[in-house]
Amino acid sequence: RADIPRPILDVLHRLRELGFAAFLVGGCVRDILRGVAPKDFDVASSALPQEVQGAFKKVIPTGIQHGTVTVVIGGNHVEVTTFRSEGDYLDGRRPSSVTFERDITQDLSRRDFTINAMAYDPVGQVLVDPFGGMEDLQAHLIRCVRSPLERFSEDGLRPMRAVRFAAVLGFTLEPATREAIPPTLPIFKKVALERVREEFVKLLLSPRAELGLTLLGETGLLEVFLPELAQAGEEAVRLARAAAQAAPAEVEIRLAALLADLVRGAQARDIALRLKFPTKAADTMAVLVEHAFLERRTGDADPALRRLLAQVGPALLEPLLAVARARVEARQRDRLPEVLALQERLRALLAAKPPLTPKELALSGKDIMATLGIGPSPQVGEATRFLMEAVFDAPDLNESERLKDLLRTWQAGKGV
Ligand code: ATP
Ligand code: MG
Repeated sequence: RADIPRPILDVLHRLRELGFAAFLVGGCVRDILRGVAPKDFDVASSALPQEVQGAFKKVIPTGIQHGTVTVVIGGNHVEVTTFRSEGDYLDGRRPSSVTFERDITQDLSRRDFTINAMAYDPVGQVLVDPFGGMEDLQAHLIRCVRSPLERFSEDGLRPMRAVRFAAVLGFTLEPATREAIPPTLPIFKKVALERVREEFVKLLLSPRAELGLTLLGETGLLEVFLPELAQAGEEAVRLARAAAQAAPAEVEIRLAALLADLVRGAQARDIALRLKFPTKAADTMAVLVEHAFLERRTGDADPALRRLLAQVGPALLEPLLAVARARVEARQRDRLPEVLALQERLRALLAAKPPLTPKELALSGKDIMATLGIGPSPQVGEATRFLMEAVFDAPDLNESERLKDLLRTWQAGKGV
């Protein structure tokens, strides 16, 4: 109770004062009962959206047709959702209708898992727990509210959520809940990949990503949205999971660590785009996957490493090092010291600020044209590439007079 923010308590008080029922619901109740600080607090009430709007000075109609409004109170935003039940699901994705209810139990019964289907009134200190959520929380079980087969057939995302919660919380799937996953996979296949990805990312970033990935494989869910991983050999998949787990909890890094030994960069990019990641994240994953094999570069001389820095770009060096380290930790621990030494060399080379792009050359395109006595032409690009190669080999050459000399010699040698 002491941990519940003042604005939330104020909203609950005000609604009750007006004679409405009002509770905390969903994830925050689960987290309070586990002794974990909730990420956000959801309020549910018997008050209709218009009644909530009438109860507070400032209310934003965020999702009024679904019964959700945002109360602005002392500069804070509190989401209040009217108790509701859902009509039949006709497409495995969305209920055909939503009905507002005056009773909290109706609202709780549409929720996915027993541990997510509790309501708590911190004012009267009452827990509403019609489906045994508290018991399952203590037993560390993910169990569907009512029939798992029916609930998974209604909304194909729920099996994915079950596995996600198992990984995030370190819980077990209750047997009937687990057994209902394979037969409802055809419905899971219809779910928008964007929704699947959101759950997948939460699983991947959890401290038990490895366990979550194993469960995804065992239940058949993985095959649906990440066949590239599901279809790899058992040992390859095991190593990929271990690499993801060993990586820092950042989505591009963990996903790159997971995929690097199974696909090339371009394919990783396609996978990311298919899962509706933003283009920038997909591009990042492509670079990280393509260059992840640093254990193969430990014998490289400085020029080759500068070329690598140019291909990867300074911004992605640290993420790349993280991916490479995680892979080696999971797959070839004995090579770790070598890779860590290479990591230090790469950092030192970058810290020396060598020119890595044509923009950083001491000669501009115009300077190059003037030196060669030519106008805009493909030769300018050729000369630029020549100079870049020269400064990768010896960054000290990056001074205008020295580059001009180099260019003239190059031109003479080519007989241009
Ligand atoms: P997290 O802490 O990860 O946000 P959460 O429990 O708050 O966990 P949300 O996805 O934010 O999860 O959903 C909030 C609540 O809404 C859930 O606790 C659950 O009661 C209900 N819920 C969400 N998605 C579904 C669904 N697909 N089917 C049924 N109930 C759902
Ligand atoms: Mg939530």
